[in-house]
Amino acid sequence: MKKEIEKKRLKKELKSLFKSMDYISDNYLNKEGINDKELEVFANIYQQLGMAWEFLGLQCRHWDGYKKTRDRKEVCKICGKVGDVDETDILLPVKGHKKIGRKKTPDSKKTFRTKKEAEILYDSIDFHGARLKVDVHNSYKSKLFKKELDINMAAERIVQLKESGIECSIDQHTINIRIGPSKEKGSKVDYGNFAFELRKKDLKHFPVLFKFDDNFKFSGLTILR
Ligand SMILES: [Zn+2]
Repeated sequence: MKKEIEKKRLKKELKSLFKSMDYISDNYLNKEGINDKELEVFANIYQQLGMAWEFLGLQCRHWDGYKKTRDRKEVCKICGKVGDVDETDILLPVKGHKKIGRKKTPDSKKTFRTKKEAEILYDSIDFHGARLKVDVHNSYKSKLFKKELDINMAAERIVQLKESGIECSIDQHTINIRIGPSKEKGSKVDYGNFAFELRKKDLKHFPVLFKFDDNFKFSGLTILR
């Protein structure tokens, strides 16, 4: 229901906007004998109406699908925007849940020549002090060890969240949490062990609670700060 009201309102606003744009175009921009100064004023108005169109178009979810134009472009039946074109601006509600983009995962079995060609999405947002980054790419060839060794980087979807100096990154195979500043290049790498490999007295240094059920099925962990 909310969607219908929203759609109806937007349709109405766009209709009246298109009417204004046509009016300016027909009566001034294409008028014979209009002087340059006047023409500039109306060209500006037309531009500003174009901005309003951009703004309203961002609110359109293209509910009614697309239609073909004479120059064979697919345009939205409501807002007139060309389909399949990345929107450069993102309009979000101030209150309530915000949604940007759709979940993307690797979409090819191919190994691409470069990282750029393999890229599907690389985007980040600073959200009220927390930083979120999403990196989705197909497999690609990368040079390692002073460009002497070719290795295949696996197709991945990596989501990383940074908050108060803590970094959590999730990919298809691991969930990594880093506490404190990231290691400088060349410094000694951290050790990594399963809990059962450590001695009890060493384990006591780690403020970690393992969560599990009656069958010892692991269901998560809590790290105390
Ligand atoms: Zn639309």
